[in-house]
Amino acid sequence: MQRAGKGKTPRRAKKPSNIEKDPVGVYCRIRPLGGEDEECCVEMISSSTIQLHAPDGLKANRNGEYKETQYSFKKVFGIKTTQIELFKDVAKPLMEDLIHGKNGLLFTYGVTGSGKTYTMTGSPGEGGLLPRSLDMLFNSIGPFQAKRFVFKPDDKNGIEIQSQVDALLERQKRDNQQSVPKTPSSRQRADPEFADMINPEEACKSETVDEDCCYSVLVSYIEIYNNYIYDLLEDAPFDLIRPKPPQSKILREDQNHNMYVAGCTEVEVKSTEEAFEVFWKGQKKRRIANTQLNRESSRSHSVFTVKLVQAPLDADGDYILQDKNQVNVSQLCLVDLAGSERTNRTRAEGSRLREAGNINQSLMTLRTCMEVLRENQMCGTNRMVPYRDSKVTHLFKNYFDGEGKVRMIVCVNPKADDYEETLLVMRFAEMTQEVEVARPVDRPICGLAAGRRQRNQAFKEELSRRLEERGGPSNGEDPGLMNQLIESLPPLPSCELSDPSDDQTLPRLIEVLERRHRIRQMMTEQFNQTANTIKSKLQQFDSQLTAKETALYDQQSKLGEKDKVINNQRTELERLEKKSKTLEYKIDILQKTTEMYEQDKRSLQHELESREQRLQKELAEKRRLEQRMQGMVTDTRAKWEKECERRVNAKQLEMQNKLWVKDEKLKQLKAIVTESGGGLGSSPTEQPRKPERPSRERDRHNAQKRSASPPPPSTVPPVRPMHRRSHSAGGEKWVDHKPASNLDLDTVMQPIIPNAIKVSTPNEKALSKCHKYVLRHQELASDGEIETKLIKGNVFKTRGGGQAVQFTDIETLKQECPTAPSRKRRSGSGEGPTQTDNIENRAPMPNTSSSHGYQKRRRP
Ligand code: ADP
Ligand code: MG
Repeated sequence: MQRAGKGKTPRRAKKPSNIEKDPVGVYCRIRPLGGEDEECCVEMISSSTIQLHAPDGLKANRNGEYKETQYSFKKVFGIKTTQIELFKDVAKPLMEDLIHGKNGLLFTYGVTGSGKTYTMTGSPGEGGLLPRSLDMLFNSIGPFQAKRFVFKPDDKNGIEIQSQVDALLERQKRDNQQSVPKTPSSRQRADPEFADMINPEEACKSETVDEDCCYSVLVSYIEIYNNYIYDLLEDAPFDLIRPKPPQSKILREDQNHNMYVAGCTEVEVKSTEEAFEVFWKGQKKRRIANTQLNRESSRSHSVFTVKLVQAPLDADGDYILQDKNQVNVSQLCLVDLAGSERTNRTRAEGSRLREAGNINQSLMTLRTCMEVLRENQMCGTNRMVPYRDSKVTHLFKNYFDGEGKVRMIVCVNPKADDYEETLLVMRFAEMTQEVEVARPVDRPICGLAAGRRQRNQAFKEELSRRLEERGGPSNGEDPGLMNQLIESLPPLPSCELSDPSDDQTLPRLIEVLERRHRIRQMMTEQFNQTANTIKSKLQQFDSQLTAKETALYDQQSKLGEKDKVINNQRTELERLEKKSKTLEYKIDILQKTTEMYEQDKRSLQHELESREQRLQKELAEKRRLEQRMQGMVTDTRAKWEKECERRVNAKQLEMQNKLWVKDEKLKQLKAIVTESGGGLGSSPTEQPRKPERPSRERDRHNAQKRSASPPPPSTVPPVRPMHRRSHSAGGEKWVDHKPASNLDLDTVMQPIIPNAIKVSTPNEKALSKCHKYVLRHQELASDGEIETKLIKGNVFKTRGGGQAVQFTDIETLKQECPTAPSRKRRSGSGEGPTQTDNIENRAPMPNTSSSHGYQKRRRP
């Protein structure tokens, strides 16, 4: 959409931050195969996806490495798609946009023979997008078209607006110049190749045309061949005998930086047929040029541009508003691109090769531009898009960096030969879909009230109806009325003068004439009077009408303002709705996030609770353990205290016993000493003191006494003879001294000494008869059990005739209670730490207890 005089290609966007963009709409059309038995490489999977199958030959060549690839588009049109279906989906929205003042670009892309021209132009009976678009345009704006030459293109890509009179004059001038009328009157007169392209039943029409505007359609048709632009509508006479090569056109940028073909012919057309005619003229010219210059038609791009100029009617709805700023121009370019195949496929040679190279170059540039655009848009980069590298891209530059709707139809021939080219086409198409183009904005509405044309029409109709009611407009020259009027006047007498003295005829005539004159004067007066009354009435009506008109105008402007307000509010409402939708969406997201967080929180709380419970449990366990430990410690301490006391006592007893034994030895020695001093015969006056079983009380009492005098040195020989077990069982005679205090222990193993003299107190007599002496001595062992010691000695005769005993050996017999606590560690016993410590002090042992839940460090 653009203002008059501001360029015809799309307006450059002013880069507002909130620009709305749409991706390039890419559609795919698959044409039917040429022959039924041909191999088909393209399959339509869904309404938007196709799959490419590598042809059999290719698969064999490349070891089946070709993948079956899928490509998605906005829509895929299968082989059965009719032209009208395609038009409704692809071109109709663009046409609607054009009518509403927005720009569009539609191009077909594909290899030669894939159906580009069929899609764009069509064939008789099956009109393509171009004739259908023109038909829809004129069906929609037909009755609202401006007179020819009201809108006139200037040579700077702008539109001038002329008054009706100037336009009429120009029309007459042109008509005089051209002998043949320009507009064909009917379809029947159109070129047979172009006739009946569209079935009248398939006619389309826009329902939302602004009827308060006047429209004009201008078309231009150019061809880009070998990167040169040719005007196909130029009126240069074509010399069939000595053809001049056509002059190429150049691209220019207008004051708004929009690109246009300088000096390109723009033909104003008023009907579908006329537009067809113009297109067909261009088409013919193209064909002639191709044949004469030996060109390959598939290597040229053709661009048919439909430009729609519209301007609002004035407040009365009668004439076009003569305000250049209110003129809007929109355009739709219909482009049939050259075949996209590579050079080698066409087997071109020489200049043909160069041409193909150029064509491919322009398609390559198109591809590069799309790639760079996509990269810039996706990655936020600012790489320069090489539009200028080819004419095609340069011409359409404004669509991509300005605004407009861009659609592309990718045509595919599913035959096997095209497979590799089709792959390249698909890749380009897929990439192009990712390019975004600024959405064209709605044109601003003019301040005038809507429905002006209709009101004007209704007024005109009413006026003519009323005039008809009054018998139609009188032109004052009605002969009947005149006759009636003359007949109503007094008849003229005969004015024939027969004789010179006739003095009656003339005076009679004079009288009649005077009467007539009076009547006439009266009638004139009456007429004047009536005229005056009518005039005043008319004036009255007029003033009333003016008042009404001003009121109406006021109302209309108010209505316009209200409309504006409504529109503003509507846009505001839309904005708010959009905002509310965004906010709702955000709320939704936030709610979801909150839910997620709450779930997290719940699970964390749950975990916290379970951990707390575990902690409590562990604490309770710990307390319980502590209590148990304390009890055990107390128990163990008490037990050990008792044990220690017991052991001390036992040790004491043992020591006392040892002391007693020593005492006994000492006594014996003393006795021997005394005996040797006094001879054996002298009977001792004192009975040898019967050895007493040591008692703790007594010991304690005697302790001081003993310690006061150290025991006499022992006479025991320093070297202890080896103990021989056989001695006790041998032929020697023994004195078996078993003190009366000894307890009977019911032991199974008893020392059995044959030929022994059993005594409870040793006496001289017994000793003299024996060589050996054994004393059965009982004492308390450290574990509290009674221990029996057999203290053995040799009896030998003293020089004084007495006997002495030399102790040589001690045998220990010990009983143990199996239930008594063993010193061995019992695993799992609840003996507690004391015992464990005890064991650990002796040997490193792993603690298998794990009730505390921590690992005990092993000592090295
Ligand atoms: P291109 O312009 O891509 O080189 P054309 O439009 O000239 O290809 O098509 C080549 C031939 O295929 C034409 O004869 C045309 O009638 C035929 N053709 C193309 N598309 C279709 C279609 N969808 N249905 C029927 N015939 C088709
Ligand atoms: Mg073609």
